Amino acid sequence: MVSAATGTCTRCGGQDTVKVYRSINVASQPELKEEVMSGAVFTWTCPHCGTVNLMRFDTLYHDPDQKLMILLADAGTPLNGTIQDMFSRDEALQAYTARFVSEPGELIEKVKIFDAGLDDMVIELCKHITIMEMEKDIKGMKFFRMEGADNEITLTYPLNGDMEMINIGFNVYEDCRGILQRNPAIKEKSTGLVRVDAQWVSQFFR
Ligand SMILES: [Zn+2]
Repeated sequence: MVSAATGTCTRCGGQDTVKVYRSINVASQPELKEEVMSGAVFTWTCPHCGTVNLMRFDTLYHDPDQKLMILLADAGTPLNGTIQDMFSRDEALQAYTARFVSEPGELIEKVKIFDAGLDDMVIELCKHITIMEMEKDIKGMKFFRMEGADNEITLTYPLNGDMEMINIGFNVYEDCRGILQRNPAIKEKSTGLVRVDAQWVSQFFR
């Protein structure tokens, strides 16, 4: 579902009509998945000066084949209301992995993680452990990609204004997956529409 909005260029102040996706269904519009992963869906190019502007909007990302739903909405959006009810009552939705994110970057990351066939809870634990080992106060570490015959995982993080990268072996992912599987309390807290982020993982591991 698309609606139109007016975008104002951050550079020249010129305006243009921009596409805002209230929902993104990648079964009916498969090309949108790539646009989400590249971040293009959250940008528009000013026709007056060529500047690529960022935009943000609330949206529901839906991949029926992967049974994946990701709600992008403001952090203050209450989850105990109708949306959470919908996910806990509707039988068809109970088979879904449902996530709540509040930044476009988080939506992009989630889609990349699931596209790579990975589990975002395991990735959060990988990030948690990686940050602990680095002994630095790092916020905003994100999954970037998995590649190569060894399934090497690349994470990115901001440091002093730059974007840094760190690679972790797939064995780290497997170890983290094992830790989560042996911890039933985590599964219990992971049903319905869940926010899975650094804060989520820190309630289980300190
Ligand atoms: Zn412009």
